[in-house]
Amino acid sequence: PLASIRGDVQFDNIVFEYEKGRPALHGISINVKAGQSIALVGHTGSGKSTIINLLCRFYDPVSGVVRIDGQDIRNITLDSLRSQVGLVMQDTFIFSGTIRDNIRYGCLNATDNEIVEAAKAVNAHDFIMSLPDGYDTEVEERGNVLSMGQRQLLSFARALLADPRVLILDEATASIDTETELKIQEALKTLLKGRTSFMIAHRLSTIRNADEIIVLDHGRIVEQGNHEAL
Ligand code: ATP
Ligand code: MG
Repeated sequence: PLASIRGDVQFDNIVFEYEKGRPALHGISINVKAGQSIALVGHTGSGKSTIINLLCRFYDPVSGVVRIDGQDIRNITLDSLRSQVGLVMQDTFIFSGTIRDNIRYGCLNATDNEIVEAAKAVNAHDFIMSLPDGYDTEVEERGNVLSMGQRQLLSFARALLADPRVLILDEATASIDTETELKIQEALKTLLKGRTSFMIAHRLSTIRNADEIIVLDHGRIVEQGNHEAL
């Protein structure tokens, strides 16, 4: 199942509660056509991460159905779901190892050339080449060799290499210098191209570029539309 999906995503009247009797989502319906980008915005506690958690199947809804290409995601194996739904988290996960290994994570059969191509496509190649050992530079999980912006670009390269049809992005809130910010914006365009994406968006530029903005409040959708409409 899901060998090659288009990437249509549907939340059909989703109710979800972490604790019994305290719904975090009250009947959320979202219809996303393959290739569209969705920005999820709203105050803290409004339900943005919960929507993402359900799409990744970290939890199942109390009622309602989440579908990918019309298929209830509870009927898809987790392996299959994980290969088609990619996650780029805010606190970008870097492990101890080389830059190359960090990009290759999850795509063990990727060639060196594919790794370099992915890094180039997301504007990461230049900074990698400026490191002491280039792609062989060792980084530490909590080390400070890499800036937040560079970590973000690395995570984009990793996601591009993995090539999921549906991409989830929890955008970093850390302040990033203008030059890196521009690189990230450009890289994001490349990364999102042809994919369905859900972004927990913090940057105005990301929100502005989304096909659809969904504004959440206390587990409900209170506004929906593109940047011009809202
Ligand atoms: P933020 O901007 O702070 O990340 P958010 O929009 O992602 O907020 P959620 O994390 O989806 O908000 O939280 C929605 C609601 O669910 C909140 O009331 C929150 O307290 C509750 N909640 C979130 N995670 C859990 C959990 N693991 N256990 C219990 N309640 C939770
Ligand atoms: Mg959150």
